[in-house]
Amino acid sequence: MSDRKPYVGGNWKMNTSVDTSSSLARGVVDACESAQGSVDIVVFPPAPYLIGVKSILRSRPTSIATGAQDLYFEADGAFTGEISVAMVKDCGCGHALAGHSERRHVIGESDELVNAKVRATLEGGLTCVLCIGETLEEREAGETNAVNERQLRTGLADVGLRQMDKVVIAYEPVWAIGTGKTASPEDAQAAHAFIRGLLAEMFSDEVAQRTRIIYGGSVKPSNAAALFGQPDIDGGLIGGASLKVEDFAAIVKAAAPH
Ligand code: PEP
Repeated sequence: MSDRKPYVGGNWKMNTSVDTSSSLARGVVDACESAQGSVDIVVFPPAPYLIGVKSILRSRPTSIATGAQDLYFEADGAFTGEISVAMVKDCGCGHALAGHSERRHVIGESDELVNAKVRATLEGGLTCVLCIGETLEEREAGETNAVNERQLRTGLADVGLRQMDKVVIAYEPVWAIGTGKTASPEDAQAAHAFIRGLLAEMFSDEVAQRTRIIYGGSVKPSNAAALFGQPDIDGGLIGGASLKVEDFAAIVKAAAPH
């Protein structure tokens, strides 16, 4: 068993309201109490609710953290609709996602834009969860490793060795996100081992061994333990199931070292 601390993120996507984001945050704190010391638990609410969720977390004895689902790489200025690293920090967040598949494939973000966001996030001192993963067409064409390698190398271009302490990689096969289809534990493990090997090549063995690589794609209470039991799977990025307190808490529990 590795000594990497498991990381479980709840990506609420474009869901919840002022009221339901607050009740979800309260529910997560209560339900995840026992796992808080042994798992890094981070919730990623929609940007308008970050302050409200953070103030709920601050009012409770909890180590659950907040993160932004996305941010822009420029510091400030005429970028209508975007939010900066400083704004995210100002809302009390310590984490941000970069390159989520919905940003890449629905909004159309390039590998280079994702890299600019990764670098801005790390320069701002936040933990960056870099999301990578292949589409179904790419998998069927035998391009899984090539796509993951391209997204990893470009996403982490010009990231320094020391900055890797604040990087978490989320392997999320696009065909498994929000579809109910999950990669088998063996397929997910193979992709994670490949990614860890690349990190060793790009940085060092030590960095590769230290970096958390988490899995995302229809993780549920029923499949979490088998996925997290794989040697190179260090937790998960959870979409749909993070909106249900009991499901999210069960997944967090499955990630805790036994
Ligand atoms: C995600 O949002 O990153 C995700 C993995 O979603 P889901 O768990 O719903 O597949």
